[in-house]
Amino acid sequence: MPKYAAELVGLKAQCVRTHKFRQAKTEMNFRDLISFTLRTELEIDSTAARSPTAIFRSVLTSSLMFAWIAVKWLVLLTIGLWGTLSNGFASEDSLVAIERCSLFDPETGQMLLERTIVVRNDRIVSVTGADEVGNIPEDTIRIDGRGKFAMPGLIDAHVHLVHVLDFAHVTGDEVLPLYLAAGVTSIRSTGDEVVAATLIARFAFAHPEWCPRVFTCSPLLDADPPIHRDVGHAITDPAKVSALLDDLSLWNIKTVKIYAGTARPVGRTIIEEAHRRGLFVTAHLGSYSAQDAVADGIDGLEHIWSVFNYVIPPEVTREPGYRGRLDLSNPLCETLVAELAKRKIYVDPTLAVFRNMILLPDVAAIRDHPDNILVPGRLREFWPIYLRRTGCPQGGPLEDRQREFAKYQELTGKLYRAGVPLLVGTDSPEPQVTPGFAMHQELEMLVESGVPPADALRAATLNNATALGENERLGSVSVGKLGDIVLLSANPLDDIRNTRQIELVMRGGKICRPSDLLARVPKH
Ligand SMILES: [Zn+2]
Repeated sequence: MPKYAAELVGLKAQCVRTHKFRQAKTEMNFRDLISFTLRTELEIDSTAARSPTAIFRSVLTSSLMFAWIAVKWLVLLTIGLWGTLSNGFASEDSLVAIERCSLFDPETGQMLLERTIVVRNDRIVSVTGADEVGNIPEDTIRIDGRGKFAMPGLIDAHVHLVHVLDFAHVTGDEVLPLYLAAGVTSIRSTGDEVVAATLIARFAFAHPEWCPRVFTCSPLLDADPPIHRDVGHAITDPAKVSALLDDLSLWNIKTVKIYAGTARPVGRTIIEEAHRRGLFVTAHLGSYSAQDAVADGIDGLEHIWSVFNYVIPPEVTREPGYRGRLDLSNPLCETLVAELAKRKIYVDPTLAVFRNMILLPDVAAIRDHPDNILVPGRLREFWPIYLRRTGCPQGGPLEDRQREFAKYQELTGKLYRAGVPLLVGTDSPEPQVTPGFAMHQELEMLVESGVPPADALRAATLNNATALGENERLGSVSVGKLGDIVLLSANPLDDIRNTRQIELVMRGGKICRPSDLLARVPKH
């Protein structure tokens, strides 16, 4: 963890509000500005270390620090050894037990009864039935789980940490507590400016008490000019893909994202080169068809559009409102769905953004949804501006738009029944897609689409963890995994809306209360 990360995010937050930043942003020079901030900060440090007094002071400080650390470790080791011998746990350990709760197991889709979960520091060390609980050490924080329902922390598979926020003069760190407050303990970025996203990820790492885990992604790899100039990166020559991915790999990204302007030759090369580096490739498709991307070995597809737009027979496109009347049992659709199922390609429908931003943003229940009030005022005030700028709502009369959204849900249900593995992402913070809380809306819409609550929850936990390559650490409440747990006061398998009934959120063994987290989000 570089020691400057938190300060840099602070500096970046200052930059955001300066005239200089606005000027730089209009020139689409965000990456340069952040790099400049980083360099300036490091230069300050190296200049201070160059003077002889500074070198002497630095040597003296280092020696004293070394002596202090040695003494501290000796003391800790003695206490720790004694503690370990006396009760089986080192006394420095923090221990939390959630006793006798019901526990959702995403592997089997079952709600297990009367389970006691013990978390030591950041790890789950035991999950036992009521009769098997051994001696719980005295200093354990004990939570009465009777009548409560534990589930793994939710993971949002489609989030932006820079895009949209940057236009609203909000930085990603300002909205991170919203995710945790909603029980979302990890987020997968799906296309952002990589330097800024890395800083936000480091900020989250430094503040586990109020931020989810952040997994970063490449910028949107797109045609020239890229559709989103703030977070897109033009790449049109397949011969240049390898060098680009070498560079991106050094940023420790988890996902590579192909965007709508990318044509097949570049797309195919991105998939090959990313796989060579062990990276997951997903796409918001446009020029590159779903059939071609699937044949070329893509791992995931973002948005229901990346399937829906490729199952429309050309002869029906002359009829007005054809998207809302599409027969999904047409051969084009059946073939693609079967291929997605056969190859186990993840589909992340992101229904929330289609309903709340693209198709039905003007419906009062969506526009005035109580979740929307939770975001910083700057973002909320920007949403209607962005809706106008992007021409939303799209798709003609309200009735046509409603019918079209119903088709998206019908296709989602069809994908599920065919055995296509689903991911659960929201596309927050696009207009009216509230960070964190939109996950509950997304889960509700999946269930409306015909996905049983247990399978929707499995997708939002274990499937999302697997797509991140993190299923050894995340995605279920199992021994050895990280202590990311949400405790609910009602059963989410009875009614998926019960995922909102959050008593507490545990992130890496640390207990967080939603009300404290919400208080951290700026009002303005
Ligand atoms: Zn997106």
